[in-house]
Amino acid sequence: MKGKSHQLTSGGGGNLLPRCYFCGEVPAQGIHGGVMIKKAFICSACEQDIVHLQVGSTDYRVVINKLKEILG
Ligand SMILES: [Zn+2]
Repeated sequence: MKGKSHQLTSGGGGNLLPRCYFCGEVPAQGIHGGVMIKKAFICSACEQDIVHLQVGSTDYRVVINKLKEILG
């Protein structure tokens, strides 16, 4: 999350690999490199970021909004 602004540069491969909903990265381990929340995939790096977010921080609000999108 923090400062990451990766565009969707990775790829070159099948469509089966999950792409992180937050950072847009495709983990090398595929589905094992993160968690699925409903139909959204979150890579382990972002998962860690989320876990360590400070409540009330800017990132926190961004993440909460994203999670709301995911959870509908
Ligand atoms: Zn991610």
